[in-house]
Amino acid sequence: MTVTSLAGLQVQRKVPLRPYTTLKAGGPADYFVVAHSADELATAAKAAQDSDLRTTPFGWGSNVLPADKGVPGLVLLNQAKRIVVAKTGEVCADTGCGFQELFLKTAQAGLHGLEFAVGIPGTLGGALVSNAGAYRSCVSEFLTGLEIVVKGERQWVEPEWMHFSYRDSVLRLENPPQCTIVRVRMQLPKGEPKRIYDEAREYQRQRISKQPPPASAGSFFKNVNDNALAASMDTLSAGMKANGVVPAGYLIEAAGLKGFRMGGAMLGSRHANFILNVGNASSTNIRRLAQHAKSVVFEKFGVTLEEEVLFLGDWSGWEERR
Ligand SMILES: Cc1cc2nc3c(=O)[nH]c(=O)nc-3n(C[C@H](O)[C@H](O)[C@H](O)COP(=O)(O)OP(=O)(O)OC[C@H]3O[C@@H](n4cnc5c(N)ncnc54)[C@H](O)[C@@H]3O)c2cc1C
Repeated sequence: MTVTSLAGLQVQRKVPLRPYTTLKAGGPADYFVVAHSADELATAAKAAQDSDLRTTPFGWGSNVLPADKGVPGLVLLNQAKRIVVAKTGEVCADTGCGFQELFLKTAQAGLHGLEFAVGIPGTLGGALVSNAGAYRSCVSEFLTGLEIVVKGERQWVEPEWMHFSYRDSVLRLENPPQCTIVRVRMQLPKGEPKRIYDEAREYQRQRISKQPPPASAGSFFKNVNDNALAASMDTLSAGMKANGVVPAGYLIEAAGLKGFRMGGAMLGSRHANFILNVGNASSTNIRRLAQHAKSVVFEKFGVTLEEEVLFLGDWSGWEERR
């Protein structure tokens, strides 16, 4: 199929995705369209769905690893950024807005709740798909509705539609519904401005001390919720044991892999759950290192780590090994 325009928007062909990801890796998108407003995003998503053109919405690419062979179908880059904050605490935001920008706008209006978003480098749309969170909060807590395009229909749905859980939603399934989230509504409580900014600054400080420099996609694996495993880890903090949480980085470090390098990809030496692209690593190189970390952790602890980063596109030929 040759497409030159979609719903009035220009379509580019074979656009390399590497510059659009924070891991700086990945092959080309077959078709590539940029949407600058919620209406453009919704109309392009609807037109693609109506013509069975597989669509991958794209934010800041901070939680994805596109295959070196590329992403078939349409990559729809979301640059719709409007945020409207009402005095009542109701927020309506385009999903292409920066998650941190959303925090700043709501904090300026004296609303509390999104302090944890400081330092999460992505769009609201990407945050929703993985129910992004930190410091015991997550984005789904404050949602009251989502505007989505699904089966060619633009409609508002309840948050339950997303089936949120820890770093998960229906849009992370192996074969997720073809869905683009266009806008959301949230309800945030009033807060005391000094406390809002103090809390955000403290989270920022903690991040700076832990987070390695780019290029990465943040935590590569999800933390493990397992009371028995947590209890068996001698050096795990009392708080983690009480909550039954074993950080993936703790397991990777305990497996002796902190700072381990394979070609241009490396497990963080400050935070072992970050995979860094330190030397032009391809997506395959990065995934091989991830697989190695998974195997060693499994051999040592019998735990299968689950990826937080999403593998996009044509990974045919890739073999997952233990
Ligand atoms: C240094 C660093 C620190 C990080 N810290 C955290 C953290 O503390 N907590 C945390 O949870 N995450 C963290 N992340 C991961 C990441 O930033 C978040 O998951 C972020 O919200 C992803 O947003 P994005 O716009 O980059 O999404 P992308 O990576 O562009 O996309 C992610 C997925 O969402 C889909 N998607 C994107 N937009 C839409 C849309 N509008 N509709 C439907 N689907 C869509 C994409 O198709 C893809 O499957 C970190 C990443 C980095 C690099």
